[in-house]
Amino acid sequence: MTEPLALRAGRSGASVPTSQSDGASGRQVIGSRIAVREAEKQYGEFYAVNRINLDIEPGEFITLLGPSGSGKTTLLNLLAGFQSLDGGEILVDGRPVHNVPTHKRGFGMVFQSYALFPNMTVTQNVAFPLRMAGIDRATTERRVAETLEIMRLSDHARKSPSEMSGGQQQRVAIARAIVMRPKVVLMDEPLSALDRRLRESIQIEIRDLHQTIGSTILFVTHDQGEALTMSDRIAVLDAGKIVQIGRPLDIYRHPSNRFVASFVGESNLIEAEIVQKRGTTVTLKNRAGHVFDAESRDAIDVGRVTVLLRPERVAIANEPTATSTPVTVTSAIFLGEILRIEAQMEGGDTLLIRCTDTARQPLPNVGDRLHVNWGPEDCWVLT
Ligand code: ATP
Repeated sequence: MTEPLALRAGRSGASVPTSQSDGASGRQVIGSRIAVREAEKQYGEFYAVNRINLDIEPGEFITLLGPSGSGKTTLLNLLAGFQSLDGGEILVDGRPVHNVPTHKRGFGMVFQSYALFPNMTVTQNVAFPLRMAGIDRATTERRVAETLEIMRLSDHARKSPSEMSGGQQQRVAIARAIVMRPKVVLMDEPLSALDRRLRESIQIEIRDLHQTIGSTILFVTHDQGEALTMSDRIAVLDAGKIVQIGRPLDIYRHPSNRFVASFVGESNLIEAEIVQKRGTTVTLKNRAGHVFDAESRDAIDVGRVTVLLRPERVAIANEPTATSTPVTVTSAIFLGEILRIEAQMEGGDTLLIRCTDTARQPLPNVGDRLHVNWGPEDCWVLT
């Protein structure tokens, strides 16, 4: 269990922030409010960060998600103070930070490489920021013990980093980043060097940790699963711009364009013509002449659109029905808990289907003809 977050000031007068309650959830929040205003970073003619605006609430967990080169690390570095802005400003709790050097911003940081001190034990590594801040010995010992417990590292306190696995070392790096209870924690791809299972378990740990310490967390990843699992909100970046920001469910179910739909999760993107509209529901016809309904954010006029249909929303019917469409299987793979089937629709479009493995669903053979179904709520018109 965490104890009250206020610490006694040490020699230098440094202390750990006092927490406040987040009214809605009763959770303790010590995090800062961050405002990024028209932020720009240019390399020659190239904009790595192109007039980005981003408001982060105190204690929020925000993930910057995007492909390699989209500007995630550059934006994080601007916030950390490793790089300087070429335009715009960044405010932390209402104060511009451009003149504040990195070490005075008081942020906790975790990177892909653990960057632990190899000649120090786990305890000494985690105590390091407290020692540097001149926090007294008794408080340091208590806070280190508390933080090692949160990160489930108490049994490893006397080990040196070389005696630990990659996952354990990264947990030490996280412990060191949070031991001062920083108002802001920046994490740049901290799990990308770990194997899948370990990554998944540390994702949950970081999520729980965030609930416990209440800091504002800015997390960078190119892994959409990681972003969906951990974040309060996800900002999707492409070519130096935020192309969509929202809660994980909204981003996944209602992506704003083809890029987000394809980058976050697997998708079927079906080209179709609007034949009728009723408010935000539209009736569409695809290339093969199959007519179906879809939902859209806005009332859309006639024309051609791209429709997102997630593979897990496609249902396989045993018999043809009034609303089903026939497809021919081109590949079928058993992935454990799910079957991943690729099929060709009439008209030539490929349809990806993901269905839960059940005893009744045999793995189809290439060339099999299936009948597939989906409902209007399964289809989302992209803008
Ligand atoms: P990754 O996931 O690969 O780390 P990223 O989204 O974090 O990618 P950034 O590292 O922010 O991307 O880089 C954004 C763009 O800016 C890239 O095209 C990169 O080549 C460019 N860039 C970054 N740093 C520099 C630099 N010092 N000089 C020139 N170009 C740079």
